[in-house]
Amino acid sequence: MTSAVDSGATTPISFEIYPPRSDEGLPALYTTIGALAAVRPQFISVTFGAGGSTRGRSLDVLTHILHATDVPPLAHLTCVGSSYAEANAIIREFLDAGITRFLALRGDPPAGTSEDDVFLGDLESAAQLVQLIGRVQAERAPYAEELVPGVPGAARVGRRERVQISVAAFPNGHPRSRHAGEDIDALLAKQAAGAEAAITQLFFHADEYLGFVDRARSAGVTIPILPGIMPITTPGRLRRVLELTGDPSPAALAQALDAADSPAAQRAVGIAHAADLARQVRAGGAPGVHLYAFNNHETVLAVLHEAGLRTTASHDPYDHAI
Ligand code: FAD
Repeated sequence: MTSAVDSGATTPISFEIYPPRSDEGLPALYTTIGALAAVRPQFISVTFGAGGSTRGRSLDVLTHILHATDVPPLAHLTCVGSSYAEANAIIREFLDAGITRFLALRGDPPAGTSEDDVFLGDLESAAQLVQLIGRVQAERAPYAEELVPGVPGAARVGRRERVQISVAAFPNGHPRSRHAGEDIDALLAKQAAGAEAAITQLFFHADEYLGFVDRARSAGVTIPILPGIMPITTPGRLRRVLELTGDPSPAALAQALDAADSPAAQRAVGIAHAADLARQVRAGGAPGVHLYAFNNHETVLAVLHEAGLRTTASHDPYDHAI
């Protein structure tokens, strides 16, 4: 089923990937990054293990995107378990490496620990991390030096690139929130702290995203809210994301995955479901589509193809997302 909802118009696309567990995984990921970059996404985001567990390899992947492609990298950063000094040092390290786009997250305490048992860090919420990133950047010199190629010792001085900070949003509520309004309040706090865009947790029905955006707009959220769409291509992946999000099982998708009689058939179900979602949210006014790629370019590119969405040639999410 391939019908472009916005024939003629283009759709800003972005992707999320994660750092591999070991350096041996990097070459395959770099091939995937090349294939994703070829469809000219607005940005490619790289996850960050809460507590800083993937710090070095996340930065390796981000700097690879920065230097090997013309797509801007966007760094996820979490603050749970970090002191102010540690969070400050990580932000500074990423800025020094040339990263200027961030997804500011609180992150979760280590699995199996309760929030009462462990040091949760000096920063209590993603909104505070948004503020800290802004402060760290403001304290840096307001200019950047760029070496002039072919002229030894010469440097060109230009304005330092502006930092752009996005945050997470939860259309079906965060597992920790006590009532639906709390997630909108949290998003308002992140916007007030300086966030310029939000990316949502995955959801299974377009109405969940569209209803959330309506509620957020009524409450005063004005920043673009990008729908995060995950192709669910196996029953196992569906189980794992339900554990993570606490959402009720999407009956039709679960049944279709169970009824599919081969991995190829399950993959086709997941791609068709994600493509339908992408088309529907775009038709409902979503400013773009953010795809969880799981370090595999073939599936998300198949989603785009099946959704019939044309991608854009520009790289500024903050221009297009609004
Ligand atoms: P916050 O916005 O600070 O809080 C989350 C929710 O908690 C709020 O929506 C609200 O409901 C509730 N809340 C906030 N403040 C309060 C309060 N004062 N009192 C009561 N309740 C409150 N995790 C990683 O470890 N690494 C990643 O790279 C990563 N990437 C992600 C990308 C996206 C797009 C999303 C949606 C999530 C990602 N996560 C990642 C998971 C995220 O870290 C967790 O969901 C975490 O529990 C919440 O992070 P947050 O930034 O939304 O936190």
